[in-house]
This record gives sequence, C-alpha cells and structure tokens, in this order.
Amino acid sequence: METEVLELRKAIEESQRLFCSSVGCIEKTAMRDTLGLHWCAEHQFRGELLNAGAARGWPALTFYRYALASWVHSWFIMALTGSEECVLLAQEAIAEWDLQKQRDTPSDNLWDGRNDVSA
Ligand SMILES: [Zn+2]
Repeated sequence: METEVLELRKAIEESQRLFCSSVGCIEKTAMRDTLGLHWCAEHQFRGELLNAGAARGWPALTFYRYALASWVHSWFIMALTGSEECVLLAQEAIAEWDLQKQRDTPSDNLWDGRNDVSA
C-alpha cells in the first residue's frame, strides 16, 4: 500500500515535469532552466531569464518601473509572475548590464605604454 502511494506520487511528479511552469499553461516542456523549472516554447523566455540571472550571480537591476533584487527569489518571482513585457525588458537590462561590465573591465589586450622599455 505504502509502495503504491509512493509510486503514484512519483508518477504525478514525473507527469508534472512534462508541462510548462507558466501559470495556467498546459503546454509540454521545451526547456528546463537552471532552477529545474520547465517551460514550453512560448514561455521559454521566462526560463532564459532565470538562466541569465544564475549565470551572472543574480545581480540587482532596475529598469523602467521595474526592479530585480540581488536575490534568487526576486528573479524567480519575476520569471513566474512578471508580465511578458516586464520579462523582456529585464532581458534587455541584462544585455545592458553585460555591456556596462565590459566597459568597467580593462582589457588585457590594450597596450597602455606602461611596459614600454624602448623609451
Ligand atoms: Zn507555457
């Protein structure tokens, strides 16, 4: 009896894994994000937001009238419940954050004259 319950529970968990995590969506999963949530092709951009946040250590971002705190739960809530516009704007803010980071990181390839011994 106990085994049957466990098997049933396992089967339910398995079947839930096949479906999108977006609220109200019953589409089959197309991708699994870094937190283990599944997303259909239409809602994949939500999982991509979480992957982008994880890859960058969940930075704090502010954009338009939105904000993400430097905390995984903040990103998680936005990915799950944020409007499509909000999530897409967050992805733009991440691209901007990347550019800013590049500008703030001096390149090793640039010769700045400090090692010039010919003078
Ligand atoms: Zn979906």
